[in-house]
Amino acid sequence: MKLFDFVSEYPDEESCKLKFKAIRDKEGVVCRKCGGKAHYWKKDKWQYECKVCGTRTTLRSGTVMHGSQLPFRYWFIAIHLLTSTKKSFSALELQRQLGHKYYEPIWGMLHKLRLAMGKRDEKYMLSAEIELDDGFFSTERPFEDKNSKLKRGRGSQKKTKVLVMTESKEVKGKTTKKGKPRKVGYIKMQIIENLKAETITQEVKKSVSKEAELITDASTSYVGLPKVVKHHKAIVIPKEKVGVVLPWVHIAISNAKRLILDIYHNVKPKFLQSYLNEFCYKFNRRYFGEQLVTSQ
Ligand SMILES: [Zn+2]
Repeated sequence: MKLFDFVSEYPDEESCKLKFKAIRDKEGVVCRKCGGKAHYWKKDKWQYECKVCGTRTTLRSGTVMHGSQLPFRYWFIAIHLLTSTKKSFSALELQRQLGHKYYEPIWGMLHKLRLAMGKRDEKYMLSAEIELDDGFFSTERPFEDKNSKLKRGRGSQKKTKVLVMTESKEVKGKTTKKGKPRKVGYIKMQIIENLKAETITQEVKKSVSKEAELITDASTSYVGLPKVVKHHKAIVIPKEKVGVVLPWVHIAISNAKRLILDIYHNVKPKFLQSYLNEFCYKFNRRYFGEQLVTSQ
């Protein structure tokens, strides 16, 4: 949705609330007490009331906005920006634009929306041909570790390990100087604790269809993969050839790194996944906006 359309469709708090109610009505409200699906709408209170047991459900309850005091319009603006901007923006920037007094609730709102993005993408299993590799993202060293030897230069950094998987299909019949070009589908990025075969195998099992064909380098981290997918091609890849054999994984890693560095500068390890979620979500939809509002 373009900015003009957004502004004319959601000019005020009322229009956002009505739209949000329409989405909830369409998805259906479930009573948290008795599981009943039929509700009255209490117009004066802006709440649903269960037809069976009378339990009230607020408009926000059980959604991504659960417990939030921020106006609906803030959420709509944040969703609009998250799904329509090519890059991203910081919570500080959004706080400034909204003219809101406090930073934390704005940061919390964006964080919850990014979690919702991750949850949406978790439902999708990668399939067919998949490139897989790990990447190291620079993150801020937690405070308690700051006296360690790793402290150097400005701020101390550590590397957080991320497993990156991209659906990647060979383009039939074409050859370029670099070999056969590949077309990218969905991608996933997941922080991992270590590069042990067991860790990687578990992660792949969660994210990849059993019928898939995985292409990786010949690292021992990947020895367990034949247990969870039909085909596993482990290729010994000289360093300079990595961009040819696993092109999309490496394009995705370098784009994500650049974006995160540009916008968020120092990222704490525990929040990196949230930014990766946003990156993958946008990549997977190639910027077609989608409703995030009813996720939790
Ligand atoms: Zn009920």
